[in-house]
Amino acid sequence: MLPVAVLDIQAGHRCLDLCAAPGSKTAQMLASLAHANYKKWGRGLEKIEVKGSEQFLRGRIDYSGDEGCVVANEISAERAGMLVHQIARHQSLYPLVVFTSHDARYFPSLRREDGREVLFDRILCDVMCSSDGTLRKSPHLWREWSSRLSLELHAEQLAVALRSVRLLRGGGRMVYSTCSLSPVENEAVVAEILRAAPCLALLDVREELTLRTSPGLETWKVAHQGQLYESHAAAVAAGVKLQRGVFPPAESGLGLKKCLRILPHHNDTGGFFIAVFEKVAAYVAKGAEVADAETIRGYDSDRDEDGEEEERQKQLQKLEQAAERSCSAQERAKAEARRERARTSGSLARELARYKCLASMPEQVCALRAFYGLHESFPVQLFFSRHHLQLMADGELVQTHQGEANQLLLLAAAAAEVLCCGTGEHAKRKLKVIAGGLRAFEKDRFEVAERSTSLRLAQEAVELLAPYLGLRVVTLEDVADTHRLLSQRDAATAALVSAGKSQLEELGAGGCVLLLRTTSGSWLAVSALRTRKAVSLFVNDLMMPSMRQACGLPAALQAEEAEKRFVSARFQGFEVDKRPMKDFEPLQAAPDVGFWQELSQRKLDLWRLDSSNVPVTAFYEASQASRVPAKCFLQKDAFQDTRVPVGAVKVVGELKNFNTEEEFRAFLGNADARQSCLAEAVAQISSAIASGKALQEPWQLRRLLLCSFADLKKYHYSYLLTLPALKTPKPWQRVREPIEDLGPEVLALVAKGLREKDFDGLCLLTRAADVGWSLRPMADLLNVKVESEDDLILVFVDPSSEEAPAWSLQNALVLLAKHRPGRRRVLAFRDPQLAGASGYTSSGPQLRSLLFRYALDAEMESSGDCRAGWSKIATVDLTRFLDSKMVAANAVDLNIKLMKWRVLPGLEPDRLKELRVLLLGAGTLGCGVARALMGWGCRHMTFVDAGKVSFSNPVRQSLFTHKDAADGRKKATAAKEAVLAILPDAKVEDVVMDIPMPGHPHQSAELLRANVVKLQELIERHDVICMLTDSRESRWLPSLLVAAAQDRGKDAPLGLTVALGFDSFLVSRQSYQNSPAACYFCNDVTAPSDSLAFRTLDQQCTVTRPGISGLASNCAVELLAALTQHQDGFAAASSNTASISESPLGGVPHQVRGYAAEYALAPTETEPFGRCICCSPQVLQRYAAEGMGFLEQVIADSSILEDVSGLAEMKAAMSGMEGDVEAFDEFEDL
Ligand SMILES: [Zn+2]
Repeated sequence: MLPVAVLDIQAGHRCLDLCAAPGSKTAQMLASLAHANYKKWGRGLEKIEVKGSEQFLRGRIDYSGDEGCVVANEISAERAGMLVHQIARHQSLYPLVVFTSHDARYFPSLRREDGREVLFDRILCDVMCSSDGTLRKSPHLWREWSSRLSLELHAEQLAVALRSVRLLRGGGRMVYSTCSLSPVENEAVVAEILRAAPCLALLDVREELTLRTSPGLETWKVAHQGQLYESHAAAVAAGVKLQRGVFPPAESGLGLKKCLRILPHHNDTGGFFIAVFEKVAAYVAKGAEVADAETIRGYDSDRDEDGEEEERQKQLQKLEQAAERSCSAQERAKAEARRERARTSGSLARELARYKCLASMPEQVCALRAFYGLHESFPVQLFFSRHHLQLMADGELVQTHQGEANQLLLLAAAAAEVLCCGTGEHAKRKLKVIAGGLRAFEKDRFEVAERSTSLRLAQEAVELLAPYLGLRVVTLEDVADTHRLLSQRDAATAALVSAGKSQLEELGAGGCVLLLRTTSGSWLAVSALRTRKAVSLFVNDLMMPSMRQACGLPAALQAEEAEKRFVSARFQGFEVDKRPMKDFEPLQAAPDVGFWQELSQRKLDLWRLDSSNVPVTAFYEASQASRVPAKCFLQKDAFQDTRVPVGAVKVVGELKNFNTEEEFRAFLGNADARQSCLAEAVAQISSAIASGKALQEPWQLRRLLLCSFADLKKYHYSYLLTLPALKTPKPWQRVREPIEDLGPEVLALVAKGLREKDFDGLCLLTRAADVGWSLRPMADLLNVKVESEDDLILVFVDPSSEEAPAWSLQNALVLLAKHRPGRRRVLAFRDPQLAGASGYTSSGPQLRSLLFRYALDAEMESSGDCRAGWSKIATVDLTRFLDSKMVAANAVDLNIKLMKWRVLPGLEPDRLKELRVLLLGAGTLGCGVARALMGWGCRHMTFVDAGKVSFSNPVRQSLFTHKDAADGRKKATAAKEAVLAILPDAKVEDVVMDIPMPGHPHQSAELLRANVVKLQELIERHDVICMLTDSRESRWLPSLLVAAAQDRGKDAPLGLTVALGFDSFLVSRQSYQNSPAACYFCNDVTAPSDSLAFRTLDQQCTVTRPGISGLASNCAVELLAALTQHQDGFAAASSNTASISESPLGGVPHQVRGYAAEYALAPTETEPFGRCICCSPQVLQRYAAEGMGFLEQVIADSSILEDVSGLAEMKAAMSGMEGDVEAFDEFEDL
């Protein structure tokens, strides 16, 4: 850890760890930075103090200051991912850190948008080396090491160092270190750095150290193929080609003695090398103008080609060639698999995270400020949303998973700047960011209430953010409430006893923060969700035990409480697995809410009816407390992320999600079917054991199958899980041995080892005479030598808290019996708290791990059969977390999505969902059209009607009831409320108004004007205008306004008319933009006049067969639906049938006439009539010229329309042949 110590990190420093894996040095850098910040500014990690209402802004952490940052870079994307987990214990420092994945030689330069470069204050180059200094710790190196390694690594090490010189600011410090003692990798590199970068000075820090060190070497010999060479000249003379730079420098005065050599025997450590540099002047790239090939020059991302991409292409090409050269099909398949793996993971993968600053999303900021009262002073520009892009082999960028965009991450100012510089539009070489920032808000797919934001506080950030929240922070001061919430996770608000309860009850639905009082009187801030009548904690299973302990509760729930599980009535009574013998403890499935939400989303948007198995990654942990069932956790990222938290044990497997309840029931009822779907997993496990592959990769022994049925309509998810275990010819025999044989020190060593190294849940504990106990990977099983067989113990990370170890031990026993049979000791490890840094305090001096001795005979090899060990069936009911409105809305959309999956893959239901429809008339047709629109998931509609519901209406007008009539309610209002009662998330408006009609001069001039203006405004903000009134003349003004609005481009409204006869109906669309069609009046040869005056009652009422209005309104909505799906949209040419490629819903005629008596529909194409009293150019021109004046004239006397349109003239010309003109009055006066 010396390299970080001599780096001398100060407050506010921007630090770069160029070769960061395995991450311990990054963690140290982060801690040093935080410590320096705290010393300078006295701020860092304060808790909130609650004192009445003054809690606001007290003890806040000011992330707007310059806190500095640590950028941790690691070439392998996978190892970079592990880094993230390595620093898990420093969660509160996440805002300071950004993880990247670059070849360190080509780490890109960071520039602000104005072009200024962001340089680092401190850079650690702990480069890849031959590691010969660690021989004592890693004896396998004795076999692998050769002098050639150093010679090969020299150039790469130098390139990394030179790149870091370029990234270092003037006055900044850089540390070059290796864990090798070879001068070729150390002093030779330092000498080359000094030659290439005169801006650097080598610092002597030996005096600052208390450790015993040796000075750097100034002369050495270079070993090559068994010969030693003193100089480049000597090598050349011997005909050996070696780089000049690996030899001791000819020049003096480089000061190589200032380097530090730490020799293993000096301090009883590993051996390593450190050189500390300071940049005393600006860097000037050398070599561009010098032609000397020997001159070394650092990579410059601003000037040079993208070296990293070149390397990547080279590697891919090599893999490609390997695939081509393969002789057999099997070899080829293997090579191709390797190539694919390299493309999608590891150092060749090109996955980029793109960050978007919250400040660029003002609506989100407003929502947060309005909903949580987020204080003005909080720097919103430090919040980022993230999504992932992947660079495919053909160079195309593809968004891989969307889940991440659903979070807001918080970064400190300097880290935020790195992101903006590195991933912004202007960045020449984009920074490949793996992770960074603290998860602060999480978005739920399911919104809880209309007015709330769907962003909830993540528990990780609650303490940090709560002081900034002016709203939605509720104090529950009674410890009884703390206990209730921490035991049940949720509680009905009515059941709470604190005074803060009333505040909680007044709170609308949505995220909130609860301050819970602990038994010791301190406060615990918890993220929670206020639902309709209850409040639920937003805390996952992993955080719960430490919270319970902090509040003086036992870490785990009582077993009987934890065992309580809800099983949907439909799946009760299935005896999937008799509780197996108490020889091994089966794992219970523990998927969290986020997992199911992700599953729902994937099911709806990706898998649909595809029921193929889906890969998932789960994990379990060593048991932390007594009487907790062994659990296998599945979280939101189980579908996309193959990493697991540090210290957790990875379980890979598949999700089998059944499409129907019947299939799931059949599966539950059929033991053979359940067994047979494990066959593949069992075969994989057997082969991994037989080949010894499982020794390298112990996760091969753990394969899970999670079977589920997701009732997406009810939000019930039923599931069960198994990890198949190979069946053995006879049961395993075990004897318990006293754990004291090992004792707390050895267990602490195991705990630390498991936390620091990735042993993958299984390892060996061996004892050697000189060094005592030590942990080693399973891979050492075959060749590790021990004095007594008892000095070799299998360590199994055990999630069970019962006497019997967990189910997953069985396959490990088979592996051991196969490769090293005998009477073996097995440590069921259950004391992770001994690692000391996990955030949990030890539950007492009592050790919970168990030591067993198993008889492992070679004949315990399995026959290929398996024991399933299914967990119990459980059901989770997500509606507890959801609002009824959203449940309804999702259910409606689900029905439409089902249509898309099953019948019409080309359907785009969102086009209907987003359509804004104006319904002129809320009578029989208005009600019918609105209902049909709801069926298509339409959400936006506006009812316009002036009338009241009358007693005769409800039987035919499907949105009204007798009560509406009795209460004398307005039709528009009653219709709106009826729609909301059916579809709670609809956006409905009601407008009570008369539509001005030609020849109806009954309104005052002001009212007329106001109504026209209102109608214009309504038409302007709707996409479809449905004319559904019951008189001909009331359609004239809207038809005219729609026709006049066709010049609005893509915002032009579509005019749709529906009219009824006694047993026939008409549905007609009028001209849309440049696509001509007849309007309702094109068929008419008289100007509309007051058709209601002078009529008897039977003539005024709608005299139609009752079914006609339903046929008509449904026909109209189906035509509208077809138009939305047509490739030309509303401008589609008339067609009675359309190919599926043009329109998945078929034909889009201009007009449909329906005849009930003949059960016939007649779709037709129409043409506008040149002398139409409504849509002809003459009328439109007159309206455009005179506007309201023209309308006033028409309303006073409609006959002028015949003159304006030229109809009168035509009539006069035809007066002699009146008998031949057919009456077009078929659909009048309804
Ligand atoms: Zn017309």
